[in-house]
Amino acid sequence: MEIKKKDIRALTKEQLREFFAENGDKAFRGNQVYDWLWSKSLHSFDEMTNISKSTREMLAKNFVINHIEVDSMQKSNDGTIKNGIRLHDGLLVESVLIPTETRTTACVSSQVGCSLDCKFCATARLKRMRNLNPDEIYDQVVVIDKQSRLYHNRKLSNIVFMGMGEPLMNYNNVIKAIDKITSPEGLGMSAKRITLSTSGVPKMIKKMADDEVKFNLAVSLHSAIDEVRTSIMPFNEIFPLEDLAESLRYWYAKTKRKVTYEYVVWDGINDRKEDVQALVDFCKVIPSKVNLIEYNPIDDGMFQQASSRALDNYISNLEMNDIVVNVRRSRGKDIDAACGQLANKS
Ligand code: SAH
Repeated sequence: MEIKKKDIRALTKEQLREFFAENGDKAFRGNQVYDWLWSKSLHSFDEMTNISKSTREMLAKNFVINHIEVDSMQKSNDGTIKNGIRLHDGLLVESVLIPTETRTTACVSSQVGCSLDCKFCATARLKRMRNLNPDEIYDQVVVIDKQSRLYHNRKLSNIVFMGMGEPLMNYNNVIKAIDKITSPEGLGMSAKRITLSTSGVPKMIKKMADDEVKFNLAVSLHSAIDEVRTSIMPFNEIFPLEDLAESLRYWYAKTKRKVTYEYVVWDGINDRKEDVQALVDFCKVIPSKVNLIEYNPIDDGMFQQASSRALDNYISNLEMNDIVVNVRRSRGKDIDAACGQLANKS
């Protein structure tokens, strides 16, 4: 009977050191292998050139290196690249490279599918299949960093957790991945260049504050009126705005860091005067700024981007109240790579 081999990247550095010490080698060998696995992102024991052949064979007997593969790659005419990523068990997620003049941002997935049911989001149509492991999140970043160097002659500069899934519903693995991404033993990126975007799970926002995370927080708000928000983001029924506000106060008290609200304005849904006023009020809960995102249609006609007059109304009212507001044009729309369009069409 074949024994199922363990994924070597599920081991911590300490566990890897112990493995070598217990198997008649030096613990230090664990450091070398760890470096190949993470910092150098190797996917085969044979390429570990400073490890002896017999040790490499012993590793291959005991472990596998599970890893992702780029299954498909689509390039948009604005330079955006959408990757279909095949996981070791055959499931697919998507990761997007988004270039601007000065930056390259990786938009990564945290789950296969999503358990939330946001009415305007294509990913919501897939049921949640499973959480991604830390290495599967990390590998998406490695893939996009390589593409950035290849196609844009620069390394990856920013990461947003705005791909498929709700990162706060896979918190432990997301944190482990970010630890590796920011560690000098991994990619050595600054946490300041990472943004976690959540639909707003109050308990987990407090947990992040307690954990003193150093990355940025964005909340997909879309409405600051419970009734409206529940109609488009049904889980708002369980996590109403007052609970969200309370968790954000807690976040700010502990971290002293602003939050960004992501907000789409739709025709006939949240384009009234009272919608604007409610957002202005909500922005006063803690220091914050607003990103108004362009709506990316997901082909069912239920939602329509509001008129530019409605948008201007939001902008002028927010600005009048000294709230910073950015209007975010979508990128990669022609290849369904924009926010909310990730759904494995292939
Ligand atoms: N679950 C997380 C991250 C994934 S969604 C979250 O909710 O934040 C990433 C962003 O895209 C969110 O702000 C989401 O509200 C937004 N989004 C989803 N569908 C969209 C669409 N069709 N058009 C524009 N933005 C969309």
